[in-house]
Amino acid sequence: VTCQELIEFLDDYVSGNLAEASRNAFDAHLKTCPNCVNYLVSYQRTIEMSQKAFDASEEPVPETVPEDLIKAIIEARRKNPDS
Ligand SMILES: [Zn+2]
Repeated sequence: VTCQELIEFLDDYVSGNLAEASRNAFDAHLKTCPNCVNYLVSYQRTIEMSQKAFDASEEPVPETVPEDLIKAIIEARRKNPDS
């Protein structure tokens, strides 16, 4: 396994889609190649970060003043401008 091959199949390696033989070859390469280990770590960090960003977008939107309430206030002021 070369660095080029490892990087090409890194997605499959990380997601566990790689055949066991290939996986073992990748593991063996990672033991001898700190460059690819660094690449793998930053790759996984990128995935983690994008997943966190996705989770954040799933959270409920921050509570704001309901639009109906704003409309009601505007309407009330229009009816009673002096109040
Ligand atoms: Zn390498």
